[in-house]
Amino acid sequence: MLSNTNNELLAKGSERHDHERCISDALIRAQKLCQDQKQRLTRTREQVLRLIWQSHQPVGAYSIMDTLAESEGKRVAPPTVYRALDFLLDLGLIHRINSLNAYIGCQSPGHQHHSCFLICQQCQLALEFEPELLKNQIEALQQHSGFAISQQNIELLGTCPQCQQ
Ligand SMILES: [Zn+2]
Ligand SMILES: [Zn+2]
Ligand SMILES: [Zn+2]
Repeated sequence: MLSNTNNELLAKGSERHDHERCISDALIRAQKLCQDQKQRLTRTREQVLRLIWQSHQPVGAYSIMDTLAESEGKRVAPPTVYRALDFLLDLGLIHRINSLNAYIGCQSPGHQHHSCFLICQQCQLALEFEPELLKNQIEALQQHSGFAISQQNIELLGTCPQCQQ
């Protein structure tokens, strides 16, 4: 149900986890996906994706703009950043965390899936999970209610094991 990366983050704490690897894997996946979809991972798009992957904590658009401005030495226009975010969202490379109004990198882009997260309210760690357990319940709910569910954004808030110590 949780990916190896997620289990690592939960078990050992992020300080011992090889995050450089996460970032480089994410960029390789993004390049491949763009190639497959005949899309271009422009410099801005790549920079935004890299910034989002700086941690396993979701980042807000303003924080992305500030960091970009620092590295570029000049302000980047907000529409440019929002367009890059929309591109990455459309391609499924990132997810939007509604409860935090922020973005996080997807750990397994390239296949359609709903966005399901465990979010720590103290350190903001956000772990994506595949909702196999919930799938049957949601299908039953859909049949029972006659409601055609088109989007599922499941955000479960709480305290991660590290923050409970
Ligand atoms: Zn990582
Ligand atoms: Zn995802
Ligand atoms: Zn935490």
